Amino acid sequence: MNKIVLASNNIHKVIEFKKILAKENIELIPQSDLGIPEIPETGLTFLENSILKARNASFIANLPAIADDSGIEVDALAGRPGIFSARYAGEECDDEENNKLLLKELSGVPEERRTARYRCVIVYLQYHNHPTPKVFDSSWDGYIANKKVGENGFGYDPLFYLPEYKMTAAELTEEQKNSISHRGKALLAFKRELPKITADLNSET
Ligand code: IMP
Repeated sequence: MNKIVLASNNIHKVIEFKKILAKENIELIPQSDLGIPEIPETGLTFLENSILKARNASFIANLPAIADDSGIEVDALAGRPGIFSARYAGEECDDEENNKLLLKELSGVPEERRTARYRCVIVYLQYHNHPTPKVFDSSWDGYIANKKVGENGFGYDPLFYLPEYKMTAAELTEEQKNSISHRGKALLAFKRELPKITADLNSET
């Protein structure tokens, strides 16, 4: 079975990746299992950060790597927090503080102007200096609610309202979220590419 290192130390993301790719013929190894630390995300786009993470993990592990960079873009905030979603309220902040700040920045903004989207860019690198990374980009539209609802998921999920479900992302089951989320859709595209990826790995000399 081909090994692929997963360049994320975010336990929630690791669980989502493992769940979605569970039946595939690959062994997904979280980088933390190999003692690979997270690197500073110095890129200005999701794509740059995703490539940086995948390249670092692939280089240290000497294995193919997959990484994702994701975040939430809020239209009333001109796309913020975007690539800074994890550290929106400060370098050491947690989900609670991020959600609090988002509600504060959006206070007084009417419902129809609270549109937002999660975005996810997944990068697969066959080896660290591969010249053509495979890129899978997806988004998920919703609204920012006025208060947190739901216990599932992570990050901004309790504030991410989905009108078609009349609930927040934190009220969806894991299966529901994975079938419609930004990461779920990008991973599905990766899954469709897996036969080609596996063939390329097996033909390596
Ligand atoms: P990254 O680890 O640098 O890609 O940071 C992604 C950040 O975006 C997370 O820490 C969350 O704050 C937010 N985020 C990305 N995907 C999701 C999701 O599926 N649910 C909730 N928050 C998310």
